Amino acid sequence: MARTALPGRLSARIEWRVATLAEFRNETATARTLLLDVPGWPGHLAGQHVDVRLTDADGYSTQRSYSLGAPADGERVELTVQKVPGGEVSEYLTDVYSIGDPIELRGPVGGWFVWHPSRTAPVLLVAGGSGIVPLMAMVRARRQARSRAPFRLIYSVRSPADQYFSSELRRSAVDDSGLDVTTVYTRSAPPGATREPGRIGGADLERYGWPPQFEPTCFVCGPTGFVEKVANTLVGLGHDPRRIRTERFGPTGG
Ligand SMILES: Cc1cc2nc3c(=O)[nH]c(=O)nc-3n(C[C@H](O)[C@H](O)[C@H](O)COP(=O)(O)OP(=O)(O)OC[C@H]3O[C@@H](n4cnc5c(N)ncnc54)[C@H](O)[C@@H]3O)c2cc1C
Repeated sequence: MARTALPGRLSARIEWRVATLAEFRNETATARTLLLDVPGWPGHLAGQHVDVRLTDADGYSTQRSYSLGAPADGERVELTVQKVPGGEVSEYLTDVYSIGDPIELRGPVGGWFVWHPSRTAPVLLVAGGSGIVPLMAMVRARRQARSRAPFRLIYSVRSPADQYFSSELRRSAVDDSGLDVTTVYTRSAPPGATREPGRIGGADLERYGWPPQFEPTCFVCGPTGFVEKVANTLVGLGHDPRRIRTERFGPTGG
């Protein structure tokens, strides 16, 4: 079949680029946010992800996907990586990868799991663990655009020490008008918490989410088992499956 020329923007999106680590910050004892400079970055929407490729001196190469954690900001992109014990790529990115080091990156990828700041419909965000990353990009994009779209975020984590972006989320819950943030702890809750630790269930989604009659767009992201359970529960509560958008990060991680 004859090759046809790809439009400039599409061909720009699929090429590998060399990104350099400009800054990092530790979110938890096992998760690190990487701020990368990517010359020629074409921009992206909240919810999209990138492919990251590592190649060693022998030419062996491997790649993984990571969500973009912040709205487009010129040639700077932000990823947050959870260290998976024994994980080939996540251990490198959280322990070894240093300021000034190059990696290859391709994107942005994905057109379904995205939130456009022009949308005004209610949004329910449900995150499990590192699944907060693309949903945080949506919270930040909403703030940046001064959007009034009603947002509710339910964030499931094992314990307070496992929470990413904790001070920013605390501030957002107060300052971002129309955004409600609820953290659900699965193993240990902070002193004074009114909910007993436990996995997220229908009662949480009913109490802290939107009623199905409000027709929210639901974005659910996290480990595969978490996403399937939450999406099925939302359908059981009466949410239209066509308004439930999911992103699975992989195994449950135990
Ligand atoms: C669209 C998309 C976006 C993603 N965004 C992010 C993100 O923003 N932040 C982030 O930290 N991760 C994200 N991931 C997961 C990421 O791509 C890798 O799967 C993860 O970092 C593990 O890779 P690894 O090379 O360290 O582990 P591997 O060497 O591939 O696996 C090591 C062991 O860990 C298990 N494992 C693999 N993946 C996971 C996982 N996600 N959770 C628990 N156990 C796992 C494997 O089964 C294996 O037993 C995303 C995945 C997808 C598909």
